[in-house]
Amino acid sequence: MPEGDAVYRTARRLRRALDGRVLTRSDFRVPRHASADLTGRGVHETVSRGKHLLTRVEGGLTVHTHLRMDGSWRVLPAGARLPAGDLRTDAIRLILANAEWLAAGVRLGVVDLLPTAEEDRVVGHLGPDLLGPDWDLAEAVRRLSGAPAETIGVALLDQRNLAGIGTIYRAETLFLAGVSPWRPVGAFKDAASLGKVVDLAHRLLTANRDRAGIVTTGDARPGRSTWVYGRPGRSCHRCGTRIRTGSLGGVGPSEHGWPRSGQRPSSSEESREESRPDESRSSEESRAGVRGGMRRTPHQDPVKDTRGGRPSQERLIYWCPSCQPA
Ligand SMILES: [Zn+2]
Repeated sequence: MPEGDAVYRTARRLRRALDGRVLTRSDFRVPRHASADLTGRGVHETVSRGKHLLTRVEGGLTVHTHLRMDGSWRVLPAGARLPAGDLRTDAIRLILANAEWLAAGVRLGVVDLLPTAEEDRVVGHLGPDLLGPDWDLAEAVRRLSGAPAETIGVALLDQRNLAGIGTIYRAETLFLAGVSPWRPVGAFKDAASLGKVVDLAHRLLTANRDRAGIVTTGDARPGRSTWVYGRPGRSCHRCGTRIRTGSLGGVGPSEHGWPRSGQRPSSSEESREESRPDESRSSEESRAGVRGGMRRTPHQDPVKDTRGGRPSQERLIYWCPSCQPA
């Protein structure tokens, strides 16, 4: 599962290829936007917001994508051939190309097109972005503290508290902090001690944002790059105790009023939405194929930041029982 640092680097690659250039081709291979066409529009910029990517184009439109479990963006010189593996049936969900570069979104979990002014619909629920220009540690701590009974392991992965942590940074942060993944958020002595954990995560992501592959130990050699993540049964680098794995509770979709899987609003909801007059919709949007039926409130966001894909993986935690006592 790509973590915030990988999404940050993806945004940078897309900026280098697309920013300031006019699209000569756009190909949305998702039913919802199959007829959308952004050809002829300039691209303003791509930004990452947690694990979400927002590509803003002329005419007030934003292409919203999310890598989910195994998505990626390939950027190739225009005219180059995509790797054979990526060309297999429906692996490519979106192509954005200009005279110099072709960007292909492969196995993207989300491909959406919406008015830039309404980006909050898809990212408004996110907590402070660990790699964002507006990173706000105090706000992240405040949000985490809002559910004191939640375990810190689950809370750190909940993108509504803070955005960008995946299973690797969660495990490594908690090891370095010496904190059991099962400690309830409310069991921290005070906001400052909780803030130390959050600051550790921030420093780990920042240290890794400019390189491929995550190194939390300072040692990039295979098998040495992490303290606990991916090392079940091996000896703790610090104390020699065997690294254990366990299962954290998931972020319960139902208890937060979220739909259980990535389902879209029901068809009745959708037709009701489509029949609603929408004065804010410009002819620009209509030309590009932005449909009125995609409106939804943030709690219906189909991107299950911490809930999508295989729950067993997001629940899986690696830890050292000696270094991280209960
Ligand atoms: Zn240890």
